[in-house]
Amino acid sequence: MEIVVSGIRSTGQLHLGNYFGAVKNFVRMQHEHPCYFFIANYHALTTHPEPASLRASVRQVLVEYLACGIDPEKAVVYLQSDLPEIPELYMLLNMHAYVGELEKVPTFKDKVRKQPNNVNAGLLTYPVLMTADVIIHKASRVPVGKDQEQHLEMARNFVNRFNHFYGVDYFPEPYPYNFGQELVKVPGLDGSGKMGKSEGNAIYLSDDPAVIRKKIMRAVTDTGPTEPNSPVSEPVNNLFTLLSLVAAPERVDFYKAAYADCSIRYGDLKKELAEEVLSFVAPIQERIREISADDAYIRKVLTEGAEKARLSSSKTLREVREIMGF
Ligand code: ADP
Repeated sequence: MEIVVSGIRSTGQLHLGNYFGAVKNFVRMQHEHPCYFFIANYHALTTHPEPASLRASVRQVLVEYLACGIDPEKAVVYLQSDLPEIPELYMLLNMHAYVGELEKVPTFKDKVRKQPNNVNAGLLTYPVLMTADVIIHKASRVPVGKDQEQHLEMARNFVNRFNHFYGVDYFPEPYPYNFGQELVKVPGLDGSGKMGKSEGNAIYLSDDPAVIRKKIMRAVTDTGPTEPNSPVSEPVNNLFTLLSLVAAPERVDFYKAAYADCSIRYGDLKKELAEEVLSFVAPIQERIREISADDAYIRKVLTEGAEKARLSSSKTLREVREIMGF
C-alpha cells in the first residue's frame, strides 16, 4: 500500500484551486491508502504573517479541510509544527541540497522578481522543507495541483541523492497524484495563470454569495467571437474550465457551441458559473459553520493527529539518523 502525504499552506482560506487541485483527491484517497494531511504553518512563514493571523489561519484551514470531507478517523490530520522531526529532517537534507539548484527553481526566481526585499533563506530552501514534509512518512504519492510538479521532481532528486550517497534503498520516490491522471490547474478570474492566494484572483470556499457573484461577474473576458469557429481566448477558456469543474459537461458544451456560432453572451455564462459555484460551496459552508463552532473537536483532531503522525515521523527520523551515522 502506498503512503500518501499532502499539505496546504496556512495563509488564509482554501480557494477552488486548492480544492480541485488537491483536497478533492485527498478526500478520495483516504479510503484507499494510509493518508497524512497537514497544515503547512512553517511554509506560511516565508511571508512573515503576524502571530495572531498565523494562528487564526491555521484554524480556518483545518476547519475547511474537515468541511471538505477529510475524515480524521480515516486519515491522519496534523499541524506541520507539531512534528519536530520535520525541521530536523529538513536540516539534514539541507546538507545535500545545493544553492545552485535551489536558485534555479522557477517559483524561487518568481519570488525574487515579485518580492525583491524579502528573498529569505527559507524561500530558497522551500523545496527542501517540502521534501521533508513528504518523506518524513516515506510517502510515494502526493495529491497536488500542477503547480507543484517541479517541486516533486526536486523531491525525487533529493531522495535519490540521499539513497545513493548512503548506499541505501530507504526513501521511495514521491510522485504527484491525481485520480483523473492529468494534474489539475485551476485558472483564476483575471484572464491568465493559476488561481492562487498570492495572485489575488481566487474564489474562496468561504466567500459570501454576494462576493462570489461579484468576483465572477467581473472576471476578465474578451470582446467576443467575431467569426464562426474562431479560437477561444485564454480568459474565456478559463471560464469554460471553471464551469467544467462545477457544472454538468453538457453546460460547458452548450457555451462552447455558442462561442463557435458567435451567439455566446458572456453575461449568461458568468451568471450560470456563479450559481453553480454557489451550489457547490453551499454545503461546504454549512459544515464550515458547524465545525468552526466546536473548539473542543478542533483541539481533539489536532492532538490526536499529532500523536498518530509522530509515530511515523519519529520512526523515520530514528532510521535516518542511524543511516547518516549518528
Ligand atoms: P496557493 O498557491 O494558493 O498559495 P498552496 O501553495 O497552499 O496554495 O497550495 C496548496 C495546494 O493547492 C497544492 O497542492 C497546490 O498544488 C494546490 N493548488 C493551489 N492552487 C492551485 C490551482 N490554481 N490549481 C490547482 N491546484 C492548485
